[in-house]
Amino acid sequence: MQSLRSHALENLTSNPVEVKVSGSSKITAIFNENVFTLKVARQFLSDDAYKSLTASVKSGKKIERSMGGQVANGLKAWAESKGVTHYTHWFQPLTGLSAEKHDSFFTLKGDGTPIEEFDGGALIQQEPDASSFPSGGLRATFEARGYTAWDPSSPAFIMEIGQGKTLCIPTIFVSYTGESLDAKTPLLKALVALDKAAVDVCQYFDKNVTKVTPTLGWEQEYFMIDAGLANARPDLLLTGRTVFGHAPAKGQQLEDHYFGTIPERVYAFMRDFEEESYKLGIPLRTRHNEVAPAQFECAPIYEEVNIAVDHNLLLMDIMTRVAKRHNLKVLLHEKPFAGINGSGKHNNWSLATDTGVNLLAPGKTPKTNLMFLTFFVNTIKAVHDYSELLRASIASAGNDHRLGANEAPPAIISAFIGKYLTTVLEQVETRVGGKFDEQDEAMLKLDIHKSIPELMLDNTDRNRTSPFAFTGNKFEFRAVGSAANCATNMTVLNTIVAETLKNFKIEVDALIEKGDKKEVAIMHILQKYVVDSKKVLFEGDGYSEAWANEAEKRGLPNVKTTPLALDAYLSEKSKKLFESNDIYNHAELEARHEIMLEDYIKKVQIEARIMGELATTYVLPSAVKYQNILIENIKGLKEAGLKEAAYSNQLQVLEAISNHIAVISDNVKKMIEERKLANELTSSRDKAIAYCDKIKGEYFDLIRYHVDKLELMVDDAHWVLPKYREILFLR
Ligand code: ADP
Ligand code: MG
Repeated sequence: MQSLRSHALENLTSNPVEVKVSGSSKITAIFNENVFTLKVARQFLSDDAYKSLTASVKSGKKIERSMGGQVANGLKAWAESKGVTHYTHWFQPLTGLSAEKHDSFFTLKGDGTPIEEFDGGALIQQEPDASSFPSGGLRATFEARGYTAWDPSSPAFIMEIGQGKTLCIPTIFVSYTGESLDAKTPLLKALVALDKAAVDVCQYFDKNVTKVTPTLGWEQEYFMIDAGLANARPDLLLTGRTVFGHAPAKGQQLEDHYFGTIPERVYAFMRDFEEESYKLGIPLRTRHNEVAPAQFECAPIYEEVNIAVDHNLLLMDIMTRVAKRHNLKVLLHEKPFAGINGSGKHNNWSLATDTGVNLLAPGKTPKTNLMFLTFFVNTIKAVHDYSELLRASIASAGNDHRLGANEAPPAIISAFIGKYLTTVLEQVETRVGGKFDEQDEAMLKLDIHKSIPELMLDNTDRNRTSPFAFTGNKFEFRAVGSAANCATNMTVLNTIVAETLKNFKIEVDALIEKGDKKEVAIMHILQKYVVDSKKVLFEGDGYSEAWANEAEKRGLPNVKTTPLALDAYLSEKSKKLFESNDIYNHAELEARHEIMLEDYIKKVQIEARIMGELATTYVLPSAVKYQNILIENIKGLKEAGLKEAAYSNQLQVLEAISNHIAVISDNVKKMIEERKLANELTSSRDKAIAYCDKIKGEYFDLIRYHVDKLELMVDDAHWVLPKYREILFLR
């Protein structure tokens, strides 16, 4: 039988795929076409229902049951006008993916009359079979049922798959007793906490602010490869990454891929998925090649965090589906290929007021400068105080390949703020004895607004090795994994900033109470915060060995693996933080921790299994075949009466191959034994550590090393796994 590899290679060259993209000339013509925006709602809802929906979207007001029925009717009328037959509650269980269960509008009346129906009940609440979603023991402790409940703050949309059209209602997913079972519920709570804390602090500067909304602009990195070649790599199919594969003769050293021209096939794919995205209201803005071969990036215009999170999940789903049409496969894994860059998802984050101010953009007057400085310093303090939690929020089996390995960004959480703001903070800090009262005029006149825009928005002052960088009017959290749901880290980031702002207000109020002038009190506390948290600031090369050493001296944590990083969720400090801000109670927190450990264990377990299987059924047979050819050859040369010199090279190769075969089969066996031991452990944490340190730590690199050596020795015609150069460079 022909190997899948040779089949894929043949197909690749003989019939390049051509997919026509409809390519509407103007994006505005299709943007939001499949979204129930407020503008559309206006057309399909009564005045009362529209008012109720708007109030809910804009200020989080609850929609009454009676209005629910009216909104449902309007939604159904709109959806049917677009040919929709089914609806689903769309939610984000803790599998890391989105989930849906489709129901048709179609139903039968008591007398058998068929009708199309969608009532308020079906809109507001559903009860999907929750037992197959991870609950971390929550359902066992409480109640087996789980509910999805409508989240009006994210608009309903129509998903088109082939000819089928489904109305999707974004929902949260909670247990019968109210514990969250999804990624969205805690996020929404964190946004509420942040809104409250930030509005309170804004009152020092502007009484008109009544709402603060965190904003998120994600940048999604991904790899794009031929689907035929991907199908010939069971490791890619099952784990999203290649467990074997020798580095190609040419990697990314020439740096010729970055911002280079986009290959035609990939370009067609991009236009196709962008069009689907625009229809769903995802405001994609940029597309370009990334550093590694076959790696790309796209980014939208930023949006409110909740919507941005939904849009990113939708995008990952759309990309995966659309790629199939182009006979391509999208890889969202953090590290699909060893030896070349991995993929991340930069989370650009800021805070916007309902008065139209970006709180992390330097202001134009001394007063707004102080407001900027307040939110800026509080964010840094939050990152400093909760760096372990931030690290935990981006921990996953996939991301360990980036954060823990000698690749960017490091697992050490630090913040980059640029030269100019470093000077500003130094000035704040060194004000002797904190005596702002005499000189506060001078202090407040710091011309932040004039210099920062040029300095910070200028690319030259950017440090791309920092996990958390200030980039002029927002922070960019770069250590997030490419496959992650942004909700997880956005929940943590917004919660820790909310907590910090809350305490800030208490401290400032106390000083004002004692008689300090407001501005002076604010400066005093900011100074204290700068002193307290300056060790988290780092301007140098975050990838360097020197920084790892320096960070250790500063006492900054550097937790390289997920099982240990996740501990931060369960510290007393974290429990208090989450409980007091009403994000997670202890049971929810413990359940999440458990789910994340289980996820880690399963992922490494699957990798170990596929590694063993591929080594045994793909690699070793190819090597043995070539071994036999060599043996025949040597025998023949011997029989022909030639001296050893004539076949000494073959003998050496034969010996090396035999050695690699022995080491591989030996260690695959040992790895299986180790897995059995790990599986007997009862605590998930112990098990995860065993999978991390013993199975992955002791065997993955070792087995891979010998397999990759064989790849360079065995006759190419016998090698059945597509090679890196084929996967990465063939178009
Ligand atoms: P890069 O970091 O690649 O240079 P940009 O800085 O232009 O790119 O923008 C990256 C992302 O940051 C985009 O998605 C953009 O919309 C987003 N962004 C810009 N301003 C904000 C903001 N105030 N809040 C959140 N995200 C923002
Ligand atoms: Mg960026």
